[in-house]
Amino acid sequence: MRIQGISGSRGVAVGNVYKYIQEEIIIPDYTVADGDVEAEIGKFAAAMAATLKQLDIIRQKALVDMGPEEAAIFEAHMQIAQDPSLSDGIKSLVESTKTNVVAATAQTIDTFAGIFLGMDDPYMRERGADIKDIGDRLMRNMLGMNPRGLSHISGQVILVAHDLAPSDTASLDKNVVKGIVTAAGGPTSHAAIMARTLEIPAVMGVGDIDSFVDGTRAVVLGTDGIALINPSDAEWVDYSTQAEAFQDELKRLKDSANLEAVTVDGHHVDLFGNIGKSKDADNAINMGASGIGLYRTEFLYMENDELPEEDVQFEEYKQVAESLHGNPVIIRTMDIGGDKELKCLDLPEEMNPFLGYRAIRISLNRPDIFKVQLRALLRASAFGDIHIMYPMIASVEEVKCANVMLEECKAELRKEGVAFNEDIKVGIMIEVPAAAVIAPILAKYVDFFSIGTNDLCQYTLAVDRMNEAIGNLYQPLHPGVLRLIKGVIDASHEQGKFTGMCGELAGDPVATMILLGLGLDEFSMTASSIPLIKNILRSVSKAECEAVATHALTLDTAEEITAYAKSVLAEKGLA
Ligand code: PEP
Ligand code: MG
Repeated sequence: MRIQGISGSRGVAVGNVYKYIQEEIIIPDYTVADGDVEAEIGKFAAAMAATLKQLDIIRQKALVDMGPEEAAIFEAHMQIAQDPSLSDGIKSLVESTKTNVVAATAQTIDTFAGIFLGMDDPYMRERGADIKDIGDRLMRNMLGMNPRGLSHISGQVILVAHDLAPSDTASLDKNVVKGIVTAAGGPTSHAAIMARTLEIPAVMGVGDIDSFVDGTRAVVLGTDGIALINPSDAEWVDYSTQAEAFQDELKRLKDSANLEAVTVDGHHVDLFGNIGKSKDADNAINMGASGIGLYRTEFLYMENDELPEEDVQFEEYKQVAESLHGNPVIIRTMDIGGDKELKCLDLPEEMNPFLGYRAIRISLNRPDIFKVQLRALLRASAFGDIHIMYPMIASVEEVKCANVMLEECKAELRKEGVAFNEDIKVGIMIEVPAAAVIAPILAKYVDFFSIGTNDLCQYTLAVDRMNEAIGNLYQPLHPGVLRLIKGVIDASHEQGKFTGMCGELAGDPVATMILLGLGLDEFSMTASSIPLIKNILRSVSKAECEAVATHALTLDTAEEITAYAKSVLAEKGLA
C-alpha cells in the first residue's frame, strides 16, 4: 500500500513499523474548594521539579547524541518552564477562578504557545512547539502519567506517530530509527526539521496512520514524500539497496564538506549559510559554508521585553563577524512586523500583515530604532567582513532613505572616533516583484542583491507561503518567478555587482543547476543543506548548467521545469 504525504527529510529508509501512540492527557474538570487552593498549587511545584529533572536528563543525552546546539534547546526548555510569567499565570488562574491546576496549566500554555504558533517565521513557530511540549510534560507529571520518550526502542524501525514533540526527537537514536512517518505536520514542522538535522528520511502529513501495523515492514521515500506499507519482497530488496546507498552517500557528503564549492570546469561559487543567532555560525562553517549569506536579526528583537540596546547588538554582530575569520557575513536589518508580534514594540493589528507595516517600512519610520542597529553593525564591521542588507525593499526611495541614515551613523561614529569599515558593502533583499523588475535601477544604488525567494514567490504568485490549503500553488520554479530571478542576476552583473539567494530555493537540489546556469553568484541556505548542494556544484560544469537553465526557460509550467531538472539530476546520478 502506497501513501502520499509531504517530503520532510530526503532519502530512503526501510524497517519495521514502530507506532508511537501517546496515552492521551484527560484534563480533569473539577474546581478547587477554597481551603484546597494552596495544596492544588503545590501540585504544580512538584510537577515542575520532576519536569526540570527530566529535561536535564534529555539535555545531557542531546549533548552527547546531537551536539551543543540541540542540547541548548532543552536548556531553553528549562528556562521557559521556569519563566515566572508561566507559573504566575497558572497560579493566579487557580486562585481567581478555582480552576484545577491541570486545566489552568492547559489554558495558560495554550495562550502562550498560541502567540508563537500563529507566527509566520518557522523558527518562532518552533518556540510554540517547545512551549506545548513543556506544558504536556508538566501535565503528565501532575497526572502521574509516564513521560513521553523514545529511548526504549530497539531494532531498525520506521517510527510512525501522529506528530513528534521536540523532546521525543531528542531521545531518538538514529541507529534505531531509520525513517519517520507522521500523520500531521509539513516540511517546517518540528519533526521535519529534526529529521533533517539527524538525516533521517521522513514523510509528514500522511493524515491517517491507522493502516500502519506494529512490526510490519514499511519503506520511507523521504524525497518523494511517500510511505509504503507491506512492500512486496522484490520492492523490499530494491528499497533496502537504495537505503544502503543513501547511507553511503551521506558519509561521502560529510567527507567532502570542507572541499571548495567549485564546478568541474573551475567556476567557484560562494556557498553560504543562513543563521538566526551568532552561535549558529560555527555549525554552518562545520557543514561547509564559506560565509553567511543571511543572518536574520529578528530574534534579537523578539526575545526580549525591551528593544535591544546598541551594545548588546554590537556584541552579537561582533561575535558572528569574528567567528567567520574574515569571510563575509551578510547581516539583514530587522525584518519584523506583520504577523511577528513584538513585546518590545507596540505594533498595530492589520488586515493584511504581509502587505503592511513591516521590515524596512518600520525601520524608516523609526530612525530611533533603526539607527541603533546601524550603529551596532558599523561598529562590528571593524571586526570582520560584515555586509549590511535591507529587507523588503520595493523602491529606490527606500534604499536612498536607509542609506541617508547609514551615512548619518557613519558621520556620528567618525566624530566619536569609533572605528568601522568605511567601505562596508550594502545590499538589498529582492523579495518584492517590483524590486525584481526595477533591478537595473536598484543596482545603481547597492553593492549586491540577495533574492528572498520565500517572499518573492509568495508575492509574485499571490500565494500565502503559510497556507497549506494552497501549498500546491506555491511554486518557486514557476516560469514567472524564474524570469524575475534571471532579470535580477543579469541586472547586477551588467553593473559589476553580485547576486546571492537566501530563500529556501537556494537549498533545493532540484534548482541548483538552473540557478548556477542563470549565473547566481552566491547560494545561502540552512546548514544541513550545504553538503548536498556542494556535492551537486562539484559534480557539474557551469557550461552544462547554462544549457539546463536556457532550456528550463523555454518550458511552460513549474511542473515541466521541475520534472526536467529532476531528470537531468537523475541522468547524472545526482537525484
Ligand atoms: C525570503 O523571503 O526568502 C527570506 C529569506 O526571508 P524570510 O524567509 O526571513 O522572510
Ligand atoms: Mg522574506
